[in-house]
Amino acid sequence: MELENKWLSAELFSKLLRGDSMEAIGTDPGIFLLDQDFRLVYPAAVKDSMPLLAVDRRSWNSRYSLYMDRAETEEFARNNYSYAVRNYQTALGLAATKQQEALAIEGMARSCLADQRYPQAISYYQRLWSEYSQTVNLGGHPYGISAPLQLYAIGTLTGEKVCKHDSLIATYELIRQGHWLISSSAYNFFKSEYASIIKMDLESQESGFERTLKFHQFLIDQLIPAIQERSGFSGFHNSTETRRMYMPANGDQYLISYKEIPLTGADRQQMGGIRWNLDTVMASIIPPLLATAEEETGLEFLLVNGNRSNLPAGDADQIPETSLHLTFSKVPFPWTLVAIQPGYEKLESDVKTQLFIYGLLIAIIIVLMLFGVFVLLRDISREADSMHLQTEFVHNVSHELKTPLSLIRLYGETLLLKEHLPEKDRKEGLQIINKESERLSQMINNILDFSKIEMGRKEFDLKAGNLAEVTRDTLDSYRYHFVKKGFTIEEDIDPDIPILLFDRDALEGILVNLFSNVIKFSDKHKRMGVTLKKTPEVVLLVVADQGIGIPPDELPHIFDRFYRVKGNSDFEARGSGLGLTLVKHAAEAHGWQIEVQSTPGKGSTFTMRIPYPINSEEQL
Ligand code: ADP
Repeated sequence: MELENKWLSAELFSKLLRGDSMEAIGTDPGIFLLDQDFRLVYPAAVKDSMPLLAVDRRSWNSRYSLYMDRAETEEFARNNYSYAVRNYQTALGLAATKQQEALAIEGMARSCLADQRYPQAISYYQRLWSEYSQTVNLGGHPYGISAPLQLYAIGTLTGEKVCKHDSLIATYELIRQGHWLISSSAYNFFKSEYASIIKMDLESQESGFERTLKFHQFLIDQLIPAIQERSGFSGFHNSTETRRMYMPANGDQYLISYKEIPLTGADRQQMGGIRWNLDTVMASIIPPLLATAEEETGLEFLLVNGNRSNLPAGDADQIPETSLHLTFSKVPFPWTLVAIQPGYEKLESDVKTQLFIYGLLIAIIIVLMLFGVFVLLRDISREADSMHLQTEFVHNVSHELKTPLSLIRLYGETLLLKEHLPEKDRKEGLQIINKESERLSQMINNILDFSKIEMGRKEFDLKAGNLAEVTRDTLDSYRYHFVKKGFTIEEDIDPDIPILLFDRDALEGILVNLFSNVIKFSDKHKRMGVTLKKTPEVVLLVVADQGIGIPPDELPHIFDRFYRVKGNSDFEARGSGLGLTLVKHAAEAHGWQIEVQSTPGKGSTFTMRIPYPINSEEQL
């Protein structure tokens, strides 16, 4: 902005208008000044199409005009060249301006040339060249340019060297430097004329004047119409505000800054402006600015155009996603300014790692909490399950106790009240009372045993005894029930079983529970097998039936307390779910193992493995 203000100062424009050389300012930034009607004031107007007669004859005084007319008539109509020269001579004496003089001298030169009086023609042209260099002829071309060409032409006609090669080269250079303000078509024409004479390579570097000409063309064709359009009908804005616009032209990109310039002495408002070439701005103005900004903010700045093509290859990929893109609000640059936080990527990845760690911790905490909740719920549901089982147990046991009790009471009352009952009925009543009492006592035994076990008070009275004898006795006392229910008993009791230490009541309890289950859980095939035999390792006590069997998924639970297989609707009413629990407990208390094999619909086999001392001396 500072630079912009410097260029757009009234002082600078005054200097330019006073005619200080272009070179002192340079052509970039290109400076221009417009008047209120949007006409170019600076660089000096060079009209591209000059009128054929650039000289206004109406301003001539009548006598000069008279002699010039006469001279031209002698020269062109009569071809009387010596008269023509004489009339031009007289006109020269009457000339009021340098241009009038030059026109007269040119007439003399031309007439002498036509008359083949070469030395005179040469001297006139030389005079035009040296004294009237900036004066223009009727075609609008300065004599400084056209006279040497004439001299060169005379040289080729006469074969004499009229014009020095060096001075032609010097003229060529002057044309290129913009010594004469000529239109670009005239410029191109003369440049190529001279180049062909002096055998110069036309492709030489663009000269300052050529740039000015192009700049001029750009101003006329593009910039002035654009400014005019922006200013609308209101003309200038009477404000000192700087206005800016972006303009691409001929493959280059330009930034235009312009504002009103209060020029002292100018009666009309003027608008001055500069044209910055963005390449130059990019190369020389922006980098130091960015460097200062980088130093002050600690950020890295990059100027990026739309497709990032202005960046060196590789740099474009290095712009992190997270960089800040700023567009220029005041200056219409076709770029965005990208601010990058150095080390941002690392910072970001650090933050990500931290977030990940926190996330992981939170996840672990949640998993732990869920696990806690799961354990709690499992315990609650176990508790609920066991509560449920206990309730069921109370229900079942009450039922179990009630049935035999009511039967005993019914038959007891009958026997008491009906004294003269037939013997047969009396006996049957007593048998029922007996049987139901047994059931009751078995039930109560089980419950008492269980509560003893639960309280840790169950004790086993281990005494040396004969397994075969106890097994046979227990089977015998139960045989009546089996027979009554229509069972076939297959017994295979090896009498030659070693004497072992065991609790007789406990073994009886085990057998009674297994037998009563056989009766309870058999339907069509009423068969019961009891086997007691000695193998080399253990004594096996096996109770097998061909009853309803136990589903495989229920098998692991049947020894649990209160557990009863669900779905045995015909069978489940009777029982407490304690029998097998007691069996297992008693077996394990002896160091025996109990196993069950069962197939639904085919039957179950309970096998007790009873270890015995192999060494005969240890036998009791
Ligand atoms: P319950 O008092 O119900 O007989 P147990 O502990 O003796 O209680 O048995 C548990 C469950 O095991 C029984 O409810 C029954 O479903 C199943 N069960 C036990 N023995 C047999 C068997 N021999 N055949 C089929 N199911 C059996």
